[in-house]
Amino acid sequence: MNAQVIAVGSELLTSGKIDTNSLYLTRELNVLGVEVVEKSIVGDDRERLTEAVRTALAHCEVVILTGGLGPTEDDVTRDAVAAALGRTQYFNDEICDALEARFRKLKRAMVTINRRQAYVIEGAEVLPNACGTAPGQWIVHGDRIVMLLPGPPRELKPMFESQCLPRLRPLLPEQVIAVRHYRVACMPESDLDALIAPVYTKYTNPVTTVLGAVGDIQVFLRARTDTEAEALALLNEVGTQVEALLGDRIYSKNGDNLEATLVELMRAREKKLGFAESATGGLLAQRVTSVPGSSEVLIGGVVAYSDQLKQSLLGVSPMTLAEYSAVSEPVAREMAI
Ligand code: AMP
Ligand code: MG
Repeated sequence: MNAQVIAVGSELLTSGKIDTNSLYLTRELNVLGVEVVEKSIVGDDRERLTEAVRTALAHCEVVILTGGLGPTEDDVTRDAVAAALGRTQYFNDEICDALEARFRKLKRAMVTINRRQAYVIEGAEVLPNACGTAPGQWIVHGDRIVMLLPGPPRELKPMFESQCLPRLRPLLPEQVIAVRHYRVACMPESDLDALIAPVYTKYTNPVTTVLGAVGDIQVFLRARTDTEAEALALLNEVGTQVEALLGDRIYSKNGDNLEATLVELMRAREKKLGFAESATGGLLAQRVTSVPGSSEVLIGGVVAYSDQLKQSLLGVSPMTLAEYSAVSEPVAREMAI
């Protein structure tokens, strides 16, 4: 099953605000075996949004809209979806009563525009919003599913989890997805790909994705089958070949990052870790302290930025500093020792 996420909001088209809802939704959908094949961001514009919903419905079985459900004139998601589906909207007294009760509880008067949030698209199921005012809507339209969800992530997430997932799960074919997540250090992405592409391109299942960042490449194998045993067998078949080619350049087979892997290895060996840092300004210590359980391993660190502190705190010799300068392997060595 394929999905499209449409993030609605003109603020998401500025340089100041990023769409994070679609990242969350993609992660949740992928777990169920639903692929997000397209994402879009549309400003608060009725016509553009209507057109975007029409196009999405033509291509995807699941269309999820986030945002634009508020009470103000620029909140156009309900209107646009109603127009794209050719359905009317009706005023829902229950929602309006609940809104009024919520405002009473907050000891605030409800202004009239809030009543806009009580409009429901004909045939939609109302999704209660436990963390805000705008309810969501769930619409089955022929063989399509359309979800209208609130924009604020703290409202969207609990609603998706408690209202949408239980409705979605029974509609999906029973499938198992198993993932293997390798991480590889000290290798350019193109070299890695040249090495393993001859293996993974032979398989369409598992699907292989290579995600490159400087000095840290992630390789995902995702197998999709009817049973867990089959999925694991597929992962093993490809994984064994990938591991043989990459050898010990793979530092993690479960997706753990470098710092988590380092802490785990040191904990297993009962070793302690300390840092003497200069130009990194404490970055290494920061990364390691971000790993849960790092206190078992990390003693602490020193940030010795000036040459003077390198000598007085870390005992680096003035001669080494003069001969090689501060940014050099001999000085780094003496700092560590
Ligand atoms: P709305 O439901 O359009 O009134 O959105 C209200 C709030 O949710 C605003 O503060 C938005 O910045 C935030 N928001 C809306 N859409 C997204 C999104 N796709 N990702 C992250 N935050 C969002
Ligand atoms: Mg908005």
